[in-house]
Amino acid sequence: MSGAETGRKALHWWILGFMAIGVIVGATIQSMTEGPGSIGAKVVDAEGGVRVESIRTSLLPKGRKPTEALAVGDVISALVLDKGVEGRERRIAVESAAGLRATLDEVGYGMVASLERVGGAPRSVTLELEPTSSRNSLIEPFRFVADIFMRLLKMLIVPLVLTSIITGVTGLGGGSDFGRLGRRTLGYYIMTSLLAAGLGLLLVNVIRPGEGAELGLAVDAAFGSESQNLWDIFRRMVPENVFSAFSANGQMLQIIFFALLFGYFITRSSDTTRATMTQFFEAAFEVVMRLAQAVMLTVPVGVLCLLVKVVGETGFGVFKPLAWYMLTVFLALVIHAGVVLPMLVRFVGGVNPLRWAKAMSPALMTAFSTSSSSMTLPVTLETIEERGKVSNKVSSFVAPLGSTVNMDGTALYECIGVIFLAQYYASTGNFEFGFTQQVYVVIAALLASIGAAGIPSAGLVMMLTILSALELPLEGAALLLAVDRPLDMCRTVVNVWSDTCGTAVIASREGETPLGEAVAAAQT
Ligand code: ASP
Repeated sequence: MSGAETGRKALHWWILGFMAIGVIVGATIQSMTEGPGSIGAKVVDAEGGVRVESIRTSLLPKGRKPTEALAVGDVISALVLDKGVEGRERRIAVESAAGLRATLDEVGYGMVASLERVGGAPRSVTLELEPTSSRNSLIEPFRFVADIFMRLLKMLIVPLVLTSIITGVTGLGGGSDFGRLGRRTLGYYIMTSLLAAGLGLLLVNVIRPGEGAELGLAVDAAFGSESQNLWDIFRRMVPENVFSAFSANGQMLQIIFFALLFGYFITRSSDTTRATMTQFFEAAFEVVMRLAQAVMLTVPVGVLCLLVKVVGETGFGVFKPLAWYMLTVFLALVIHAGVVLPMLVRFVGGVNPLRWAKAMSPALMTAFSTSSSSMTLPVTLETIEERGKVSNKVSSFVAPLGSTVNMDGTALYECIGVIFLAQYYASTGNFEFGFTQQVYVVIAALLASIGAAGIPSAGLVMMLTILSALELPLEGAALLLAVDRPLDMCRTVVNVWSDTCGTAVIASREGETPLGEAVAAAQT
């Protein structure tokens, strides 16, 4: 075994070790420092909210004065944030000192919030939550490196998707190979996403995390009015201007649409054109992949910094009120990734799922740390080809398409999230939620998972579309935002895992031997 090969094999251990260090450093920073959202006052639980016991400059970042409008004895009843996920004002009732702390931690920095006070006459004060705090200054260097790492990955997304899909299609020659691989790929994507959404539906109905959950949401809040059309996903798939699609990482569906057509029509062109264009895109793809290989070397450090940033900023305290909901999502992800997909890999692909998972681990760990299938794509492609021994012909078609279109974890999460909120509203007596709506949610979850960009929190944003289509209040999704990051990390792993399983299954059906193993499954 060559030195380079040994290095590559050991990569997943490096990444894992660095991830563990990241979590430990992040958790230490989180527990030993004050969050950026400190209001500079010590508060205690009181009737109607929390009472300001003393103004404590020591809780504030260096050099910052306490807000003058805040006085000892004031009772703070609510925090009003001027920007929620929906871009409108969000009011969070303050019930306890611990609750206020968690909210401020979650809010982060730089946002303007006002506190509604009950102290004498109700008043409200506006205060700026400062970006500088001891926690922030410790996290800053990690955030800097993490940002550079993510920018490097993002930089590669558009060139990689464009060149890999075009070479994928031209490699297939546009004839029956293309049709067969296309059908298999789409079949796999739709089947696994539906299985995932169905599993989500089953578990959320068995565990029923939403019933009687104490979410503190205003039930009589205005229900979503502007119901959105999910079929718009298909309309938006067609770019009006390819160059503006290239300029936004969120427009991957449009880029894929264009690349598929472009690649296909290369195969339909005259011999000279076909040869020139194929050679050009193959050469471009090779260069981008070499760049991706170089970026791979930074993965261990990148994930370490990302985890310090995520764990350091969020901590673990926000999980409690939504523990059952999180558990349901987590369980569904584990069953789908640990049972359903491995069975497909084993019985349809004839590949040993454990060995496949081990080979794919660098991509899975990158997915976990970046929360983005698209950002993981350079690592995914490299891993599938180098460690998974899948041909470029299959991987460059299946993986880039999958990173945007195939999101099993997201499909399952949409289903559980929406039904969780629906259960909550139904149990407060304000909403009927029957079988038809449940079926609708499964279909909507499938469409949402196809339409969601492979970027952090895209799934949560898509959830707003489903909620508004069901005419449920959008406030619910804002609440889920607090715990979205850890769930996003986990569902992105499942999204990427499903893409890699797809390549294994399809490659072996195409007569290849992923991992260099003998393929047991019959070839069609
Ligand atoms: N972050 C996920 C991904 O990139 C999408 C989501 O938010 O569900 O795969």
